[in-house]
Amino acid sequence: MSQSDLFGAPAEAGVTVSSPAEVAAALREQLNAHAHRYHVLDAPSIPDAEYDRLFQALQALEAEHPELRTPDSPTQRVLGQVLDGFEPVRHAVPMLSIRTETDTEASGAEAFDARVRRELALPDDAPPVQYAAELKFDGLAINLRYEHGVLVQAATRGDGETGENVTQNIRTIGQIPLRLQGPGAGASAPVLEVRGEVYMRRDDFEALNERQRQHGAKTFVNPRNAAAGAVRQLDPAIAAQRPLSFFAYGLGEVQGWDVPDTHSALLDALAAMGLPVCAERTVAEGASGTSGLVAFHQAIGARRDQLPFDIDGVVYKVNRRDLQERLGFVTREPRWAVAHKYPAQEQLTQVEGIDIQVGRTGKLTPVARLKPVFVGGVTVTNATLHNLFELRRKGVRLGDTVIVRRAGDVIPEVVGVVAPEGGRPAYVPNFRMPRTCPVCDSTVLREPGEVDHRCTGGLFCAAQRKQALLHFAQRRAMDIEGLGDKLVDQLVDGGVVRTLPELYKLGVAKLAALDRMADKSAQNLVAALEKSKQTTLPRFLFGLGIRHVGEATAKDLAKHFGQIDRIMDASEAALLAVRDVGPVVAHSLRTFFDQAHNREVVEQLRACGVSWLEHDGAALVDPATLPLHGKTLVLTGTLPTLSRDEAKALIEAAGGKVAGSVSKKTSYVVAGEEAGSKLDKARELGLTVLDEAGLQALLAAAVATVAAAGAEPAAPQDGSGPTG
Ligand SMILES: [Zn+2]
Repeated sequence: MSQSDLFGAPAEAGVTVSSPAEVAAALREQLNAHAHRYHVLDAPSIPDAEYDRLFQALQALEAEHPELRTPDSPTQRVLGQVLDGFEPVRHAVPMLSIRTETDTEASGAEAFDARVRRELALPDDAPPVQYAAELKFDGLAINLRYEHGVLVQAATRGDGETGENVTQNIRTIGQIPLRLQGPGAGASAPVLEVRGEVYMRRDDFEALNERQRQHGAKTFVNPRNAAAGAVRQLDPAIAAQRPLSFFAYGLGEVQGWDVPDTHSALLDALAAMGLPVCAERTVAEGASGTSGLVAFHQAIGARRDQLPFDIDGVVYKVNRRDLQERLGFVTREPRWAVAHKYPAQEQLTQVEGIDIQVGRTGKLTPVARLKPVFVGGVTVTNATLHNLFELRRKGVRLGDTVIVRRAGDVIPEVVGVVAPEGGRPAYVPNFRMPRTCPVCDSTVLREPGEVDHRCTGGLFCAAQRKQALLHFAQRRAMDIEGLGDKLVDQLVDGGVVRTLPELYKLGVAKLAALDRMADKSAQNLVAALEKSKQTTLPRFLFGLGIRHVGEATAKDLAKHFGQIDRIMDASEAALLAVRDVGPVVAHSLRTFFDQAHNREVVEQLRACGVSWLEHDGAALVDPATLPLHGKTLVLTGTLPTLSRDEAKALIEAAGGKVAGSVSKKTSYVVAGEEAGSKLDKARELGLTVLDEAGLQALLAAAVATVAAAGAEPAAPQDGSGPTG
């Protein structure tokens, strides 16, 4: 029997393929393997819904053939096993699980209410039963033991009878009071065990995974898995770094406190003691319709995506405690409670292709094109793979069966591959990132130490147009008043503006033709555009949106070079000579200006009349006045502190040239340790040989010259003036 048979039709698998005994054995093996991956390795390989399906298939089979039930069957224990390193805790009152109603429709609630009425032997005309309705959190159940109001122990559910002592880790959760508060008897009871769920908020989960991704580390499948991993983390210091939250929803052992008569009053009492209790709860009647359980299930279902945490259903509990006691338990589940599920947030489907999406900021994201699948309440056809490294780590390839997760308004993602038994059917080549942007054909770059590939097209790339326009228009750049998000959307989506220069060709008539654009606003914008043309070099440079060129760097560059043309032409070495410009920034600038279309945009903007005053600083210095102007230097050997590139950059910044070989035209030879034949040749030709200190002395003269020129005001670089 193959794994895919189990996934496809677990319930019928036995009938069509093998004997019931063989099917049961295969199911047991599968379930135990998955449980091990899930609980011990923290690396689940199938969605929960699939696990549940396999589990139910085995349960059904065992119910039909009791002789097949073995002591090691996963049906014979509640999930969880004690990890080495945790002390076992025997629960004073077993931690039971709640029966799950997998019928996600209204009938699921109605069936439960009917069953309760039947068990209570209520006549048809008896008033409706009241239920406490609350959320079913997708986390890890925990028992908190308070003695005289002080938290003394926290334990996981484990197998329901025995859990793990995780007190140290639970103490790191700020929401859990270490001491109960309030005047009530409960807060100071000799024993009060509070039960609830430790979970991770979705935004905390996304941030955690994003950090993992940026470090090229393993990501977590879902918030529950991340929360469970943190609680059962043997190192409390690591656990403390994982942001966990908690909701209380029930009791374990109680001594010395008269528990309230209803479940809803109990939750109110717990909240009054300082325990977090979810506000999304109500008391509802069993009758169907707008006021009952069905309405609660539907209302929460409609808002499920907006909740800040994952839920997989809602829970109904008979509100009155005396009725709960009358109903009692069946096997290990209370008759008075049920979990009413929602559609699963993880499903299996197949990868039909891997596409590249270019984001607003130029990031290239591999996206899996999927066989359509209903997950988290919607049909999903695409799911993000985040970046090349995550894609490789997960091993996703064309044709693979994958787990897709969609929860909240987070974009759907591929969380893992379900490897087919016996490997892939045929050779599938590795996915590769394109070398050029699929949208604009600009060079794609990935910087050292980063995981993301990016299009360097910036203002030229259609995918980045909106972002580029907004960046260009912002107050700290060109300061175009009135050019905000909504207008940029309109201009770009309507095809009115495709490039930055086209902004300056907008007339009042063209703008006033846009939806919701009054004549007055159109006139204001045209005036703002006109005003923005007169700018400064740092603002213009920053406005181009070159990666890593922020305001401060733009100022440094402008100060150093003074003219845009000199910046566009500067070698990486020359750029490195600018204060605070490192190799990453220099490379980013060089890549940007090496692309003809980016230089073209600069030219067009100047042609539109965008102009700026020359900035003061080094740029004002006539190159002829630089101390090394017209000098050619040759570097040889290893200098004590400067690298070859640094020395070269410093020489170029001082107006000198660096040549590769020594000749009569060489002005100076700078020689360090282990200088070879170049030094011999210099001596032969009688040239001046400097050591590093000698070079530094020459350069110091350059700095002095630049500083002296620094305060001078300058003339406009472009004679056309602001009106163009
Ligand atoms: Zn592009």
